[in-house]
Amino acid sequence: MTGSASPSIFTRIIDREIPADIVFESESLIAIRDIAPQAPVHLLVIPKTPQYRDVVELAAGDPGLLAEVIATAKSLADEHCGGEFRLVFNTGESAGQTVFHVHAHVLGEGEGTQTLTEQTLGD
Ligand code: AMP
Repeated sequence: MTGSASPSIFTRIIDREIPADIVFESESLIAIRDIAPQAPVHLLVIPKTPQYRDVVELAAGDPGLLAEVIATAKSLADEHCGGEFRLVFNTGESAGQTVFHVHAHVLGEGEGTQTLTEQTLGD
C-alpha cells in the first residue's frame, strides 16, 4: 500500500480536475472509457481510493473491493458488449502498467463484431 506523492491521473479524474467519459460511478468505484482504446469496448474500472498501486495490493488489502471491481466489470460488459469480456490488470512497469493506482481494463467486442484478438496492452 503505497500512496504516491502527487495524485494519480485517475484521482484527478475522480476529483473532476480533468475530464473523462464516465460510464459508471458508485461510492467506491468509477468506470471510464480508456482514452486510447485497444478494443471496440475498452473501459477502466478504478477504485476511488488511491491506497493500492496494483491488483496484488488490492487483493491483499481489500478483497471485497476487488470483488466489487469484478462485479462492476461484469455489469458494464452486460451493458456494453453482451456480457463477455477480457479483464486485464497490468502489474508492474515491465508488464505495461503506466498508472500506479489500481485499475481493471475491461475489453470487449462491440455489437456484431467478432472475437477479440490476442494482443498486448503494453507499449
Ligand atoms: P496501464 O497502462 O495498465 O497502467 O493503464 C493505464 C490506462 O489509462 C491506459 O490504457 C491509458 O490509455 C489510460 N489513460 C491514461 N490517461 C487517461 C485519461 N485521461 N482518460 C482515460 N484513460 C486514460
